Order: sequence, then structure tokens, then C-alpha cells
Amino acid sequence: MRKWQILGSLLVVTGPLLLLSGIQDTSLVISLMVSGVLILIIHALIDKDDSSKRCRLGLHTYKRVSWKEDGPGEIIECQRCKKRKEVMRGF
Ligand SMILES: [Zn+2]
Repeated sequence: MRKWQILGSLLVVTGPLLLLSGIQDTSLVISLMVSGVLILIIHALIDKDDSSKRCRLGLHTYKRVSWKEDGPGEIIECQRCKKRKEVMRGF
């Protein structure tokens, strides 16, 4: 599966590189980058690792773990990937 991730990333970075190397065909560059992004998204969606595929797309399932004592914030933690972040109380 990892080869698709590499291929997608390569396509995404190839676009700007082609532009830098003087290629004028922006539609080619854009279609390369779009297909690269699509490959990455599809890869993330079909990945067997079901527990974290939504996290990889940025769709975390946060749950409050603690209030901050010294400020208006609270600490929330993703139930799947354990990523923590601080948000404003009431958010
Ligand atoms: Zn997560």
C-alpha cells in the first residue's frame, strides 16, 4: 500500500518542480497534482487500518480529557490516535 502513498506524494511535488523547470503547460501540472492528491485520499480511504484513516484525513474524534486550571481552555484528546489539543471552553 505504501507505494501508492509515495506515488501520490511524488505527483503532488512534481507539479511545482515542473513549473520551476520552465514548463508552461499549467493544465498538465494541475492534472498531475490533482491526481496525486486523489491517490493520497483514495489510499487513506481504502487503507485497512480503519481506526486511524479518518484521523489521517484530519477528522479526529475528540473527547474532553481535562479542564485547564489556569485559563479558559480545555484539553481534548482524539479517541483514536490520542492526539491532544487545547481548545476554548465551550467550543
Ligand atoms: Zn485522531
